[in-house]
Amino acid sequence: MSRYWSPVVHGLIPYVPGEQPKLTSLVKLNTNENPYGPSPKVLAALQAEIGDTLRLYPDPDSSRLRQVIAGRFGLQPANVFVGNGSDEVLAHAFQALLKHDLPVLFPDITYSFYPVYCRLYGIAFEEVALTEDFLIRVEDYCRPNGGIVFPNPNAPTGCALPRAEIERLLQANPDSVVLVDEAYIDFGGESVAPLVHHYPNLLVVHTLSKSRSLAGLRVGYALGHADLIEALIRVKDSFNSYPLDRFAQAGAVAALEDDAHFEETRSKVVASRERLVGALAQLGFVVLPSAANFILARHPGHDGAALTARLRERSIIVRHFRTPARIAPFMRITVGTDEQCDTLVSALREILS
Ligand SMILES: *Cc1c(COP(=O)(O)O)cnc(C)c1O
Repeated sequence: MSRYWSPVVHGLIPYVPGEQPKLTSLVKLNTNENPYGPSPKVLAALQAEIGDTLRLYPDPDSSRLRQVIAGRFGLQPANVFVGNGSDEVLAHAFQALLKHDLPVLFPDITYSFYPVYCRLYGIAFEEVALTEDFLIRVEDYCRPNGGIVFPNPNAPTGCALPRAEIERLLQANPDSVVLVDEAYIDFGGESVAPLVHHYPNLLVVHTLSKSRSLAGLRVGYALGHADLIEALIRVKDSFNSYPLDRFAQAGAVAALEDDAHFEETRSKVVASRERLVGALAQLGFVVLPSAANFILARHPGHDGAALTARLRERSIIVRHFRTPARIAPFMRITVGTDEQCDTLVSALREILS
């Protein structure tokens, strides 16, 4: 508390990111990073950026990157916005597109950054309860609102909403923006990116942090009607004209152009997920159906917080959320390599016995 703080700072409840431990010997399954490294072509592109041109500012519009992204989705660069991680893209979207008189709606169990942005920007919000099965029910969002936002697959549940359901949501809410945060879409689920052509109220947000193994580079993007993108650009250019540095722009282009590396690593993660789910089920865990690179799992006989602590003693870190209460019994486990998953399963087997 400081008397020098502006009033808004006193009211902030900042997002708490998962631990980034200094110890590298840990089995790190807590922040949904990719267990595989980025494409070697990304590393070469980054190397190529090291040089005298670093004295110059980067392209403020990230023109080349936006062109590459647009091309992948059959869109124009005017339909693409890029930011310093999708967290920044989301922040700008909350301010530019979701701040209205009516409250923005999002699930009660979802990415915990959403209420943080609302408090930062003074946006009214309402949390809509997921069903008993931890699913989004479209009917619950068919009422007056200032915008709708949710991840698909949802986090931290991993559960996906079919494209047809999202289309129903878009049709029922023509007067508000529907923001679909597809941070995990490459590991399962149906992307609504193709619907950008048809719905001027749809904004789809992607990140290179998960499926492209580039959490350390900080690149995310949004796809939407040019009017939505223009709003984001107006906010960006009122905040930071150069959010993506030269490395981020060059590395992101290289990552998006290496389809072979992408396909190989994401299918390995998906296969490891199915294997892990099977092994945990054998130990008596209840695992929510996941279309992401993480799972939400609980054991009927053991508390989620206690299991997380016991794993930590064995140098394995997973994530536990104390709130909302409905997910407190669970652990959120990032899908690692098969070897990492085996280490986890062996440790759990010992702890349970
Ligand atoms: C990881 C994550 C993000 C943020 O990703 P960055 O691009 O690394 O900022 C956004 N939304 C959800 C749901 C996530 O899990």
